[in-house]
Amino acid sequence: MRATARCHQCFSRVNLSEALIRSSALPSIRSQPLRRTLPISLPRTTPLSSTSRRTLFSLFKKEAEVPKPLIEQHDLFHPFDKSPSPRIRDRAEHMKHHAYCPHPEHRQTAKPAHVNHTCPDCGIPVYCSEEHWAEDYEEHLKVCDALREANEDDHDLVSGRQFPEFIYPTDQLDDALINMTNWDTYMYSRQSKAIDDMRPLRQTTRLLTYPVTVASFLHELSPYTTRDRLTTEGLRSLMALRYTLHPPARGEGGDMKGLRQSSPPVRLFILGARAESCLPREVWYQLAYLFPRSRFHLIFIGPESMAGRPNEPIPEKTPENPFGATIERVSNHMKISTFQEYYHTLHEANYFYPYDPYFDCFIMFHPGLGHGITSKEWEQTLPQLLSTKAPILVTGYTQEDMDRDVRWVEEKCKGEYDMLLKPGENRFKSLRVDINDNDPSDISQGNWGVWAFRGKRYETTMHDKAE
Ligand SMILES: [Zn+2]
Ligand SMILES: [Zn+2]
Repeated sequence: MRATARCHQCFSRVNLSEALIRSSALPSIRSQPLRRTLPISLPRTTPLSSTSRRTLFSLFKKEAEVPKPLIEQHDLFHPFDKSPSPRIRDRAEHMKHHAYCPHPEHRQTAKPAHVNHTCPDCGIPVYCSEEHWAEDYEEHLKVCDALREANEDDHDLVSGRQFPEFIYPTDQLDDALINMTNWDTYMYSRQSKAIDDMRPLRQTTRLLTYPVTVASFLHELSPYTTRDRLTTEGLRSLMALRYTLHPPARGEGGDMKGLRQSSPPVRLFILGARAESCLPREVWYQLAYLFPRSRFHLIFIGPESMAGRPNEPIPEKTPENPFGATIERVSNHMKISTFQEYYHTLHEANYFYPYDPYFDCFIMFHPGLGHGITSKEWEQTLPQLLSTKAPILVTGYTQEDMDRDVRWVEEKCKGEYDMLLKPGENRFKSLRVDINDNDPSDISQGNWGVWAFRGKRYETTMHDKAE
């Protein structure tokens, strides 16, 4: 029943810049739906192959001159409504039409009013008037610095500078262990170009948080241990997956003698997928570098999973591809399938059956399980996920967002699940602050928190498989 179809996009054809832009605003579900930030102009990245293509002749040619950035690094701060970037000015306009003034008076006596006054310190329209901004200044101070940083980071993305941080590291040397203690040690041990400065680090972690959050949970060098937030049940669950993810080196070689039968891919089901399904493939391919001896099948599932790829036709439904999945064979190590569909539909059709705790893991980035608008959509899915016994990794934008999801699972499925990773801050959260254009005082960070659980009644006999 597994989906097989032709390749629609191979790895080499993925346009890094374009994909990066499409993913530049990862949508969220919070107190008000986050407005997708408008696409921002293309940051320039040096093509990966630029050095290898250099010919003897070209050595004598003058290097192409790098165009001057539109916005200099020392001049990144601009009030949104006076930004040199038309798209950022549009965002300010959107805020003024959709976001409401948070001054408490509006909740008590005054009518709601849209934001209109731009704070001079962060450059974001946050209150309806200067008076309300001044009166509520103590409250605004809690977010003002973070908003200013986000303002500068957003202008940095449209500045037209070179973005070496979006050239991602490739193969990990055999004898160089990845250090997953935190972003700094990770970047250093991955020899990333993004470690020299905080701003490039923030820009790149906004995207890398997706694969690295997953890897930091699954990897044998995971920073989460039973001394910390991992439960005994969590360790047990991960031992099964790690058995597949870290097979012993078996002396494979390029010749016939060295050929070994490789095990089936580990299936990572990314449910409720939105912009994360359109991340540049180089970003998701970090997983292949972090687990070089295993294979992955990333399966993005959700009605909005193709929303960031409006120009791509959805494949027709055929007997081989009954749900019209978009299939990409990135390499021998990674295949990506995208289903513009609810998970429960696929589950009921037994499309992915059977599930196996040695090969399957579910991931939900900011699912809003306990959120008023979205929780209905998850109600059907949750018991299905628990029945698979596979681990379910969940992230949240903020402490509040995560706690609400945890409470909802507890209410709905008390006694039916085991906690694998206790809820807490994610070591690999996005370091970038995201502004909610519908409520600019509500700031968040991608994958701020992380936790994991799975259905009870674990009956797979682990030693059988390990033999
Ligand atoms: Zn007001
Ligand atoms: Zn401010």
